[in-house]
Amino acid sequence: MKKLFIIANWKSNKNIRETEEWLHNFSDGFKRNPFSLDNKEVIVAPSFTLLEHANYCSGNLKPPIKLAAQTISPFGEGAFTGEVNGKQIKELADYVIVGHSERRRYFHEDEEIIKKKIEITFKYKLTPILCVSSIEQIINLKSYILNRELIVAYEPLFAIGSGRADTPQNANDMGSKIKEIIDSTPVLYGGSVTSDNVNTFTQMPSISGVLVGKASLDPLEFLEIIKNA
Ligand code: PEP
Repeated sequence: MKKLFIIANWKSNKNIRETEEWLHNFSDGFKRNPFSLDNKEVIVAPSFTLLEHANYCSGNLKPPIKLAAQTISPFGEGAFTGEVNGKQIKELADYVIVGHSERRRYFHEDEEIIKKKIEITFKYKLTPILCVSSIEQIINLKSYILNRELIVAYEPLFAIGSGRADTPQNANDMGSKIKEIIDSTPVLYGGSVTSDNVNTFTQMPSISGVLVGKASLDPLEFLEIIKNA
């Protein structure tokens, strides 16, 4: 059975109280209706201000999740006001989302910045979840990621937050093209995934999970996505 990654990207949503509530309802929902997670790794990416509390609550509630940061400073420690660096993230998370299309679009993250972020993520022994919307983007980053441990998420721009997911066939074609370039790396699909459509993607041979934005904000819907994947 292939391993599946189910990743929640909360984006710029929730405060501390809402994070606690989400984790409580998620853990409670899972305890009431447990299902097998044998082949599934569940990862949640809250904002930086929430990571420490999410970590603390996870220690008590023990939800079956790992944590990710939504981005990382391209620099190490030092005089970089406002940035959160790899050493700081490493205390609280195992994964980092890199190259999300919203960072490319609203924060002008170009290929040079993304390369630096990938390098620094590896340096701090964090695993990048690299988001791409085209084959060209992966080809340009190939030498930075070849033979490294990472996750790639194919996220077509039209499908993000639009309620119009890509077709499973197209996602699978992109998955196999990406695998031709970087071999054994798991490739996920992201873009308007819900509990209703998740398994149409995860059953495709070249897709190893999903990256979920909006639908992950509701803990019970996210549990349903994990169960149906
Ligand atoms: C995303 O932003 O990575 C994403 C997949 O969002 P949504 O699920 O809301 O389309």
